[in-house]
Amino acid sequence: MLQRILAVLGLAAVAVALPTATGTALAGPSSGAVDITFPVPAGEYTDDYHADRSNGRTHQATDIFNDPGTPVHAAVGGTVGWAPASEQPSAGFALQIEGDDGRTYAYYHLGEANGARSGGVANGLSRGDRVERGELIGYLGNSGNAVNTGPHLHFEIHAAGGGRLNPFHALQAAEARGDYPGASGGGAAEAAASKSADSGSTVSYTVVSGDTLSSIAGANGGASIQAWADANPGLGDPDVINPGDVLAVP
Ligand SMILES: [Zn+2]
Repeated sequence: MLQRILAVLGLAAVAVALPTATGTALAGPSSGAVDITFPVPAGEYTDDYHADRSNGRTHQATDIFNDPGTPVHAAVGGTVGWAPASEQPSAGFALQIEGDDGRTYAYYHLGEANGARSGGVANGLSRGDRVERGELIGYLGNSGNAVNTGPHLHFEIHAAGGGRLNPFHALQAAEARGDYPGASGGGAAEAAASKSADSGSTVSYTVVSGDTLSSIAGANGGASIQAWADANPGLGDPDVINPGDVLAVP
């Protein structure tokens, strides 16, 4: 009898603990949605965070493809951290910015404004320099091991605790808001707002392995779990989502 009670209690504890455990990963200064400015004026990207890489690694970043020399802007304001003076074997010319939100943002494979692969520290920035959100921090390129894959920005977001976050959802949210470099004032903002209005609010999100409604909500505008449940009446039980489910974004 005692065993049976313990088992039931154990189940209840798991049901409660799952969303709570996920929530703690987003706690502290990094809680809530990852709010970024899209780091390039435009670019092609897919949800390639889990893509296989050499030696059994997975990608843990989003690659944004565009022409070499495309300006790269700070997704959030912060302080320049790692900024190697020479080309790194993998990252190439690279910058990491310690964001004001407690997260770290990495920009790899940078190049020169004229599209040249060679160069020095991106845009003259060095460790300790202050950068504002949307500020020009370098140029998209194919330095490091991107020489074989074509010019792209390898963009990483590290959680405050050091774990990796999938940037795809934050990029999609920035795109949906029209939050591009230079769009924060004047005509660009208006153009972005009308573009956003034209496209309507029928944005959807496809669940991938490892998602929870809490993590999806946090990375896609920060609406409450209840708002997501209300926007997706077909879910029935909002605690149960499966990879491949297509959710309406509230
Ligand atoms: Zn990459």
